Amino acid sequence: MKVPREIKSYCPRCRTHTVFTVTLYKAGKRRKLSWGERRHEEEKHGYGGQKYPILRRKAKTTKKQTLKIRCKECGYIIHRKGIRMKRIEVV
Ligand SMILES: [Zn+2]
Repeated sequence: MKVPREIKSYCPRCRTHTVFTVTLYKAGKRRKLSWGERRHEEEKHGYGGQKYPILRRKAKTTKKQTLKIRCKECGYIIHRKGIRMKRIEVV
């Protein structure tokens, strides 16, 4: 699916419709030293290691793609709800 680089949408901060620039949402890098990561690493040690079943056979073949749109007037960022699709590109 092709998505236009700029779309008009409602901005809650400006309280009117404004032009938004569109980019694809990408999950951020995981911090190795965050408390959850450290605890998970510690729980995998010793007897009875893995704490939850590892997903071996995935049912889904696609990922949900989220659009990140940013208001040109005030910089407000909205995440558009993800839809499942094989290919998405911003043109
Ligand atoms: Zn705005």
